[in-house]
Amino acid sequence: MHSLVKHSVPDTSIMARQCRRSNELSLLHILIIEDEPAIATNLYDFLEARGHSVDAAGDGITGLHLAVTQKFDGILLDLGLPGMDGITLCRKLRKEADIDTPVLMLTARDTLDDKLKGFDGGADDYLVKPFALKEVEARLVAMHKRHSGKVTSRALETGDLSFNPRTLSIQFAGASVKLPPKCIRLLAVMMGEPGRVFSRRELESEVWGDEQGTSDTLRSHMHELRRALSRAGGYDPIETVHGLGYRLISPARS
Ligand code: CA
Repeated sequence: MHSLVKHSVPDTSIMARQCRRSNELSLLHILIIEDEPAIATNLYDFLEARGHSVDAAGDGITGLHLAVTQKFDGILLDLGLPGMDGITLCRKLRKEADIDTPVLMLTARDTLDDKLKGFDGGADDYLVKPFALKEVEARLVAMHKRHSGKVTSRALETGDLSFNPRTLSIQFAGASVKLPPKCIRLLAVMMGEPGRVFSRRELESEVWGDEQGTSDTLRSHMHELRRALSRAGGYDPIETVHGLGYRLISPARS
């Protein structure tokens, strides 16, 4: 028996493409915490001119406040600051506020001891003054990429299904499922939002990107995925929503 879905599903493929594009350019929201006006202004002007959105604080207390109340992709943190030094700030950010925004520590003191203290406080990277502005940007982008990789490599779990992006292992109803890479990607996309209807175009764009698979490519991979899951778990957790696309139904674990 077919259940007709009456609500319309927005075509999010364009949005997904735009997201990917801005991600490729890596335009970030950056917080600068630096008390020397000349350095802060240089960093601010350079990063803003490169297209990033930038906020700045001239002391540790204001910096910490901004870092915990707003969402940033990266923080440039000076070591010696009025109000609260960079290491204390970083430690409070990590241990008390439980915020894992990447931190690039900036310091004038090139000693191993400071580096160790900075990393112990939870900084992700370190730059010694004077630095090239382009290098600051490159490090911020690299930190952000590592960080977003870390976020998306968390295990996904819904109903009887679990997927570990690190090991690429899939478990369905207690059985492990072996799948080719494109089928894994297809499943991972749908597991990101169980219950939501994904249009064919959206899935094609997510899995094949600019390779532009034909509708047969998606159909055959979807068939392979569903067959493998049915065989492993005894039922098919994917539903065809006629005229719209597919969705993952996630029955409660019994
Ligand atoms: Ca300073």
